[in-house]
Amino acid sequence: MKLSPKVAVVGSECVACGLCENVCPREAVHVVAGIRAQVDPARCVGCGTCARNCPAAVISLVPRKGGA
Ligand code: SF4
Ligand code: SF4
Repeated sequence: MKLSPKVAVVGSECVACGLCENVCPREAVHVVAGIRAQVDPARCVGCGTCARNCPAAVISLVPRKGGA
């Protein structure tokens, strides 16, 4: 599958609520060790659903590194 031009990244202010995990259609983001959500760039399609639902507004969509 072709990779999306954008990918989600989680900022350090993440409160580990898990909402992004619940709404991601690709299961591309997971709260790790109950501390912070992490995005798997190989699964993320840059749809922005997680960013729109994050109560702490700490998810950004950034250009994918290394091209797609
Ligand atoms: S941008 Fe979309 S695919 Fe990527 S982690 Fe967020 S909800 Fe999942
Ligand atoms: S929705 Fe936002 S605050 Fe909640 S776990 Fe995901 S990135 Fe962290």
